[in-house]
Amino acid sequence: MARVYNFSAGPAVLPEEVLREAAEEMLDYKGCGMSVMEMSHRSKMFETIIQEAEADLRELMNIPDNYKVLFLQGGASQQFAMIPMNLMKHGVADYIITGQWAKKAYQEACLFGNAKAVASSADKTFSYIPDCSDLPIDEDADYVYICENNTIYGTKYKTLPNTKGKILVSDVSSCFLSEPVDVTKYGVIYGGVQKNIGPAGVVIVIIREDLITEDVLPGTPTMLRYKTHADADSLYNTPPAYGIYICGKVFKWLKKRGGLAAMKEYNEKKAKILYDFLDESRLFKGTVRKEDRSLMNVPFVTGDVELDAKFVKEAKAAGFENLKGHRTVGGMRASIYNAMPIEGVEALVAFMRKFEAENL
Ligand SMILES: *Cc1c(COP(=O)(O)O)cnc(C)c1O
Repeated sequence: MARVYNFSAGPAVLPEEVLREAAEEMLDYKGCGMSVMEMSHRSKMFETIIQEAEADLRELMNIPDNYKVLFLQGGASQQFAMIPMNLMKHGVADYIITGQWAKKAYQEACLFGNAKAVASSADKTFSYIPDCSDLPIDEDADYVYICENNTIYGTKYKTLPNTKGKILVSDVSSCFLSEPVDVTKYGVIYGGVQKNIGPAGVVIVIIREDLITEDVLPGTPTMLRYKTHADADSLYNTPPAYGIYICGKVFKWLKKRGGLAAMKEYNEKKAKILYDFLDESRLFKGTVRKEDRSLMNVPFVTGDVELDAKFVKEAKAAGFENLKGHRTVGGMRASIYNAMPIEGVEALVAFMRKFEAENL
């Protein structure tokens, strides 16, 4: 069996240890004679799985008691609608547009009320994070919305925006659990787990309790109300049970590795290897303003479309998968999430050096 180095932006690499454990438990989970896929979500066995997952996540992120943790479905994209439907009580919300995902969230919110784009980095192909220290925040804004790590463009907020007292809502899909966070600074933190945590099909929403109310936009379906899921501890209907089980295993893996502070240190070390090479290379260069660089998604180009394609092809043949950049930006992108070992980044850089020597 040969595992490749998978640089996919999502669904993405998972810890090998977790996959092996899941494989061992596939046919008979802890002596119950069935797979987690086959068990009732109302069983004692599954109750323990979801409760432990939540407890471990709370410990990892230091989530205060006045925040609820919800395991939902519909992907991050469904949150683009759930957020305004549940939170746009005055019909106004401010959005900071730092890429496609923020833009999609903004466009969805426009369906429900007066969503305003208060800042954008579209002028330079989203290659930087705009200055958010003094934005024209609307007095009636129900919340300020950001996409904290921009998966496609490879930028990340290093300081959170000054929301002037308004609730901050953040999409952390591609930086979830990559470093410590201060949950108290947010009203809502959410993300699809298929980037940095688990298999596609689960979205985790961490939401301050006072924001979960019955006062939602008229016509909001039962399934799209946070209150429905909060009241039922994420078991209103059948949850994505197997996905939650794998997420739980990843939480335990993260705890074993020293938690989020240790993860941050490791991620910084990994990203530095690649960024340092991009800064010195005569062939490859990074596309993002240095101070805004993501630790998770690293886009780069040669400046020549044909050479980019040649690189992606030869890299694939050498066991480096999914390095092609997003279809809207071209070039290359290496996603180096928590589960990407440092050896993978070292090997990639060695391969890039060789390619550079052969193609300059
Ligand atoms: C991938 C991604 C999304 C979309 O996620 P889905 O689960 O496919 O809806 C949204 N936001 C960010 C930051 C992403 O990386």
